[in-house]
Amino acid sequence: MSVHPSIVPVVGIEVKFKNMVYPVILAPGFIAELNAVTHTEDGIVFGAACTLSHMGTVLKEAVHRLPPHQTQVFQAILEQLRWFAGQQIRNVAAIGGNIMTASPISDLNPVFMVVGCKLTLRDKDGSREVQMDDSFFTGYRKTTVRPQEILLSILIPYSKKCQFVSAFKQSPRREDDISIVTAAMSAMFSPGTDIVKDLRLSYGGMAPVTVLAKKTANRLLGRQWGEELLQEACSSLAEEMSLDPSAPGGMVTYRQTLTLSLFYKFYLTVLQKLRLQGLSVQEVSSECLSATEIYHPETPSSIQVYQAVPEGQNQDDMVGRPIMHLSALKQATGEAVYCDDVPLYENELYLALITSTKAHARILSVDISAAEQCPGVVCCLFARDVPGSNITGVRQDETVFADGQVTCVGHIIGAVVADSQLHAQRAAKAVKIQYEELTPIVTIQEAIAAQSFYEPIRTIQNGDLEAGFKQADHILEGEIHMGGQEHFYLETNVTLAVPREEDGEMELFISSQSPSDSQSFVAKALGVPANRVLVRVKRMGGGFGGKESRTTVLSTVVAVAANKLKRPVRCMLDRDEDMLITGGRHPFYGKYKVYVVHLSF
Ligand SMILES: Cc1cc2nc3c(=O)[nH]c(=O)nc-3n(C[C@H](O)[C@H](O)[C@H](O)COP(=O)(O)OP(=O)(O)OC[C@H]3O[C@@H](n4cnc5c(N)ncnc54)[C@H](O)[C@@H]3O)c2cc1C
Repeated sequence: MSVHPSIVPVVGIEVKFKNMVYPVILAPGFIAELNAVTHTEDGIVFGAACTLSHMGTVLKEAVHRLPPHQTQVFQAILEQLRWFAGQQIRNVAAIGGNIMTASPISDLNPVFMVVGCKLTLRDKDGSREVQMDDSFFTGYRKTTVRPQEILLSILIPYSKKCQFVSAFKQSPRREDDISIVTAAMSAMFSPGTDIVKDLRLSYGGMAPVTVLAKKTANRLLGRQWGEELLQEACSSLAEEMSLDPSAPGGMVTYRQTLTLSLFYKFYLTVLQKLRLQGLSVQEVSSECLSATEIYHPETPSSIQVYQAVPEGQNQDDMVGRPIMHLSALKQATGEAVYCDDVPLYENELYLALITSTKAHARILSVDISAAEQCPGVVCCLFARDVPGSNITGVRQDETVFADGQVTCVGHIIGAVVADSQLHAQRAAKAVKIQYEELTPIVTIQEAIAAQSFYEPIRTIQNGDLEAGFKQADHILEGEIHMGGQEHFYLETNVTLAVPREEDGEMELFISSQSPSDSQSFVAKALGVPANRVLVRVKRMGGGFGGKESRTTVLSTVVAVAANKLKRPVRCMLDRDEDMLITGGRHPFYGKYKVYVVHLSF
């Protein structure tokens, strides 16, 4: 297979979030050579497009079949895979994709690096082999692979007698989470001894690339695997794996500590294995040995405890009865129909939002010429296209579309309607907006300093505060701050607006906790009485308060588009769009002053 420079193997994140457009995309999953698995004398060669699930199945089979000393590397990879994303991701993510993404927190690259996996690269002129060592990753998300090359395969070697390999991952959540620090370690011993012949320690999450702690490893060569080695390893790692206090990712002290903790786990694990080989090594207390246990969670189960209703309670009286959520079974099996599952209407279009990239700015110009040239585009919409009132929101202080000025990042400026989501989103990104930036007010404290308040200011006062404080025996003062939060409903905001034939009638399918808000705001934007707007909400995939008034931000825009085009228009926000435009639960800041008087009874 030869590769042309303008062709790239599939590129999810680059296209989605980095605005890259690749004219030709290669689907490695369909190329036989990239999916082959070959068992060789040295190990197993996996085609770069083999999925992680497939790799797991092959490795498990090998672990079952081969003597344990040969499968140390495979077992370490299997242990990492257990904590790697979720099953759905593992079913589609490829080994090659994980290597080539060159993520500094990849969970597999540290293992591949400590055991020196061999990569076969190919371009139109031929193949070459490179070893995955510390020269492979040349910078943040960069490798030595040349632009015209593709990764063809990876050889994962068998482990050798007297070699022990372990891999570790520490993440905020146990399941389906990215690593804070991830590590793999390999120690080789002179036969029949506990003298270190070769040692490799690799860490992810400690630098812009996966690194090898070479200095520490070299210092420990020829040493006995015991307490002294442990002490030296820890002080050496603390020096070698240091982080700048401002290192991206934060948690600097924690991450540095983890490099030692994970080595300690490895130290104890190896000690155990050496003992099992009959060597007399340092005794370890049973308390410490728990660090070597591999954690395997059990499938969670639960019991609902409830009180039986009194005998004779009327069958129709539901109070106290353990009633299952009406949709529970459908939701658990995936049969429940959500708003975006409503089948496509004939002639339906898709909408994407054009949003502000500035926190506070005047809009100087909006250039839609490039967007209009994009495939599938039907029209662009702005404030001038709102037939009724562009003023909206619970407090009537928001706009359907920004009109001349934006007041937050994500402020909706316009929308593009096209024949598909992909086309609409691409065109929306092609709209060029020029701004004149103004000073933003971001925090509540900044708003107080600037005397920027929502009117009217509400006050509840009871009694004479001034007199009260004068007679106080104690006064307590302080302040409380709570950060804003994302509601994080599973189903993002969605609207399907279907214009009906008569009198500007509009039917909306939305996911909302407050359909009446959507009804009245949409009616106002369309300039029709509320009874012309029919809102349907079948169920929600979560709301938590985030789908009360904020749903209307999207539904008004989609309704305006459907009204203008007289065609059904749909928009389901991607997660990043939803987080960008809805605003979430706002932060709170409060100052309190309380007085106390001694009362004698
Ligand atoms: C929800 C989620 C959870 C995740 N959790 C984890 C985790 O726990 N641990 C972890 O390490 N990672 C995790 N990841 C990252 C994940 O492992 C990678 O995104 C995945 O392995 C990439 O594989 P892919 O097949 O999707 O690659 P793609 O996205 O298709 O490709 C990634 C990059 O590699 C290039 N590429 C792909 N194949 C080749 C090839 N054969 N030759 C040359 N270049 C190639 C592509 O052009 C692209 O630039 C997670 C990702 C998601 C979305």
